[in-house]
Amino acid sequence: MNAVPDFAAIEAMDAADWLRPMRERFILPPGLIYLDGNSLGVASTAAFDELRKAATEEWGQDLIRSWNTAGWFDMPLALGDRVGRLIGAAAGQTVVCDTTSINIYKALHAAMALRPDRSVIVSEGGSFPTDLYMAEGVVSTRPGASLRLEGVDAPEIEDLIDDSVAVVLVNHVNYKSGVLRDMAALTRKAQEHGALVIWDLCHTAGALPVDLDGANVDFAVGCTYKYLNGGPGAPAFIYAATRHHGDIRQPLSGWWGHARPFAFEQHYAAGEGIRRFLCGTQPILSLRALKGALDVWDEVDMAALREKSIRLTDLFITLVEAKCGAYGLELESPRDGAKRGSQVSFSHPNSYEVMQALIARGVIGDFRAPTTMRFGFTPLYVSYADVWRAVEILEEILSTGAWEDARFAVRAAVT
Ligand SMILES: *Cc1c(COP(=O)(O)O)cnc(C)c1O
Repeated sequence: MNAVPDFAAIEAMDAADWLRPMRERFILPPGLIYLDGNSLGVASTAAFDELRKAATEEWGQDLIRSWNTAGWFDMPLALGDRVGRLIGAAAGQTVVCDTTSINIYKALHAAMALRPDRSVIVSEGGSFPTDLYMAEGVVSTRPGASLRLEGVDAPEIEDLIDDSVAVVLVNHVNYKSGVLRDMAALTRKAQEHGALVIWDLCHTAGALPVDLDGANVDFAVGCTYKYLNGGPGAPAFIYAATRHHGDIRQPLSGWWGHARPFAFEQHYAAGEGIRRFLCGTQPILSLRALKGALDVWDEVDMAALREKSIRLTDLFITLVEAKCGAYGLELESPRDGAKRGSQVSFSHPNSYEVMQALIARGVIGDFRAPTTMRFGFTPLYVSYADVWRAVEILEEILSTGAWEDARFAVRAAVT
């Protein structure tokens, strides 16, 4: 275990933090310790400014002209390139659109179409469930297709990859445990067997640097409303390596992906490049909020972000184990920072109730059934002092049994 620091050491860490000025860009409710930016990122002044401008000037005054004059039509591609910079994707390979679930559907179909003589999709039993639900949906539309799952059909995903596999759909960072996979090694392994890989970057984009082009990745998808702070329901992104562009077929062949949408032709003709993954009209107000959120990211050095992320998560683990070790908490995330995303999970038999007690005291994390308490650490706006105070409050809740209050056992729809 790392040495347990005192509060003076914590204050020194904050004083020396290069990313500390970034916190001023965000609208954090006073008194709140927000450790849930891995579920819904915090609003920024820049995002609100963009939203206001888009609503009052562009929609309010310029109306339909804004499709051309305010760049509305090209925004999915323009923002895609800006997300691309954060995930190691050169321009022209990433587009912002639809939801992660829908983008998984499109990417899986595109990958299956690129491997017409193969029928197997490999994924993880412990995946975020929507990935599996979408894979089941794809299998149900393709006679002969089947799904092989890590943890069900073999202990390790690598053991499921052979020459019958069309595509591997895998999370870079597991949503629950925070386990980080080796992107380059798994991509290589799949490609050695002639399979394609789709990486789900929902807990990667804005959380740690990643190099899609460098790892020779085929496809990737991810959220913008988590670590990228795009706002509730902000559109997702999808990446496809340039080498696949000419051959991509995806079944949601709407007019936004057409080569000539305003020619209003009777038949579909797929557009050039990554545009082919677009389907229909995109939510412009949400895209504009995301544009503001990405302005903040333009100034961020991803290596510095990762360094702080590991220090925040290391500190949290050290303090929780030192101060709350007697109360039955078990670390569910890797202890080695290099093998962990930007989150820490602990299990406890009464995780739900403990988390509700934390939230009632202004420390927001979340609960994942059956027994996981999940804490996300977003280096742009979480301080080391936040980590210290969160653990102090957790210790108080556990040592006094405050979580046993009956109101904390009432289950809400969203946990
Ligand atoms: C959050 C998350 C999603 C969410 O998908 P939506 O379609 O945006 O609701 C998908 N996959 C993973 C791994 C996630 O963490």
